[in-house]
Amino acid sequence: RQPRLPPRLLLHLSAEPMGDPAVAPDAPYLEAVTQKRIRIFEEIQARQALERLNIGGDPIRVTLPDGAIKEGKKWISTPMDIATGISTGLAASCLIAQVNGVLWDMTRPLEGDCDLKLFKFDSNEGRDTFWHSSAHILGESIERVYGCKLCIGPCTTRGEGFYYDAHYKDLTLNDTHFGLIDKQAKKAVAEKQPFERIEVSRAEALEVFAENEFKVEIINELPEDKTITVYRCGPLVDLCRGPHIPNTSFVKAFACLKASASYWRGKADRESLQRVYGISFPDSKRLKEYQHMIEEAKKRDHRLLGQSQKLFFFHPLSPGSCFFLPNGAIIYNKLMDFLRKEYRERGYQEVLSPNIYNMQLWETSGHAANYKDNMFVFEVSTFADTKGK
Ligand SMILES: [Zn+2]
Repeated sequence: RQPRLPPRLLLHLSAEPMGDPAVAPDAPYLEAVTQKRIRIFEEIQARQALERLNIGGDPIRVTLPDGAIKEGKKWISTPMDIATGISTGLAASCLIAQVNGVLWDMTRPLEGDCDLKLFKFDSNEGRDTFWHSSAHILGESIERVYGCKLCIGPCTTRGEGFYYDAHYKDLTLNDTHFGLIDKQAKKAVAEKQPFERIEVSRAEALEVFAENEFKVEIINELPEDKTITVYRCGPLVDLCRGPHIPNTSFVKAFACLKASASYWRGKADRESLQRVYGISFPDSKRLKEYQHMIEEAKKRDHRLLGQSQKLFFFHPLSPGSCFFLPNGAIIYNKLMDFLRKEYRERGYQEVLSPNIYNMQLWETSGHAANYKDNMFVFEVSTFADTKGK
């Protein structure tokens, strides 16, 4: 079945010129907002540093996965310090730590005796943190270039890379805009911007993000007892629970992949947003390999092959189910023969099940809760409804 595409999915080959001056940000406004955020961030950061100085310094024991114990200082030593104590090579490749089971910034002070694990890019923890941090670089770039209002920027939960949803005034993004965004991202990487973390009260968070109604909405919905954290990298101060990589320079290769439309909170009755997808790696070789793989996958796109090899076509009269042409029917039947043979060899017997089911099945399976918008649903009177009528 073809997934139903969002109605405003963008064509990648628009003729919009790069850096359209009509969409340049209101520079003085952006600068004022940026400076305000940084000022509040630095005030809170200074206050927290002072508080930590007063409560910190006692010796702590840091236990590594192999059982080795390292000495540290409470509220002062960071996972980065511990890694550096082991080897500078280790410190240069570790992206994220885990402290007593909780993911922890490499540069965040340890708060007491703890078990410490360190992760590089070759781990799920390292990779997800790397891509999530890259989303902040993307956010910084699109805000600098287009003055958009940032909404949310996670790593993608299935697959690879990250995205940032933002609200742009009148701009529809497409891949002709990627050059400027990539360039701005490279600048952020070259500046080796540290990811800095502060904890804020709800009132402080609301003050920092007062100009961004999306962030304000998120803050107002956070539970009362939730610790609110704010991170800074370069000019970007962002609401985020973290954690992040130590600084932007770890992201040696960065590229925007595609742009599409989305809605705030995924709801069609809310603000229209633009989503930019990106990918990043700790070295440019891996980016090249990834881009090569994407190109190869495009050549094998079944939707294109289906047309060029006259295998099947889709028609609005049956949008979810294709019409097989003679070539496609041959392949279809060959596959069915193959499956039947394999089933028989493995001792299975064949049955035939319905194509259409009562909604109850999909409610039980969880499909209805997650995918109902993209399912073909229709009302029909059932035997149970008509019984006795
Ligand atoms: Zn973040």
